[in-house]
Amino acid sequence: MLLSPAALPFMEAVAQRARALTLRHFGRTISLYAPLYLSNYCTNGCAYCGFASDRVQPRRRLEPPEVEEELAMLKGMGFEEVLLLTGERTTQAGFDYLLECVSLAARRFHCVGVEAFPMDTGEYALLADAGCSGVTLYQETYDPRRYGRLHRWGPKKDYLARLDAPARAMDAGIRTVGLGVLLGLSDPTFDAVCLLRHAAHLRRIHWKSGITLSFPRLRPQAGNFVPPFPVDEAWLARLVFAFRIVLPDVPILLSTRERPDFRDGMAGLGISKMSAGSRTSVGGYGEAEPATDGQFQVGDRRGVPEFCSMLRNRGLDPVFKNWDSVFRDAEGDAHG
Ligand code: SF4
Repeated sequence: MLLSPAALPFMEAVAQRARALTLRHFGRTISLYAPLYLSNYCTNGCAYCGFASDRVQPRRRLEPPEVEEELAMLKGMGFEEVLLLTGERTTQAGFDYLLECVSLAARRFHCVGVEAFPMDTGEYALLADAGCSGVTLYQETYDPRRYGRLHRWGPKKDYLARLDAPARAMDAGIRTVGLGVLLGLSDPTFDAVCLLRHAAHLRRIHWKSGITLSFPRLRPQAGNFVPPFPVDEAWLARLVFAFRIVLPDVPILLSTRERPDFRDGMAGLGISKMSAGSRTSVGGYGEAEPATDGQFQVGDRRGVPEFCSMLRNRGLDPVFKNWDSVFRDAEGDAHG
């Protein structure tokens, strides 16, 4: 109902309700995290992605000493939460490589998340033991037929293997799972309803774990895929408000895909967690300007100090650390 045309005249009231619920559950805080792209090797043919295997661009992975350098740079920017990203499982960047990178990150960061390929329960358990507390895995679209067409080749074509992966991660002891849809690919109302059902189902079955939600919109990328269902900022805002009202205690993320003015307006208005100062290319934090195309174009290029000062000017506190690794270690001991 909140997404229906009938709700449009009530948007101001809906926005105020979303603001009040965000304040009640998250206070005047915005949690900050940084993405770190480990590798852009990929065997998948996602039609909408700049890293798809048919895109011509230099491919590389960060070697462990380079991972350490990028982690040190993010730490120097103040971050305590890092999200490690790769493409599909490849010989260059497979599970063992990812596991090593998680271990490196867990030595420096209180909170380490992974956004990579779907894994089996045993692999997720190994990641958790190595210090990974979050797994992000967007279904992209919940429409199986459209999903099949957009994922032209590669393991990601398997809709059900992806759909079940968040539950496997939770079974394995991963504390938080990030769900989402890539807006622009399919009917956004249908995808929103399916996402809500997926989130509600996981919360019911895996009540000890947490979930987060994100609604990335398609950005210009190598390959120039044109979104068949473009979603504007007003619609994205309605989506955030609706999920805040229906799932009031679930963190909702907004990345640097979006432009600064929109991000500023949404901070605290449903949104409780944001990235800042992001680079979407491999090794991007060490470059003055990224030498290669990232996975997508960044919409908000502000640095971390500028972004934090915007938050403070709006009466919000940027929070870099909301989880202490001592708990992670204690959980590991308990499982061991
Ligand atoms: S979206 Fe992920 S899996 Fe698909 S091509 Fe891009 S990096 Fe590979």
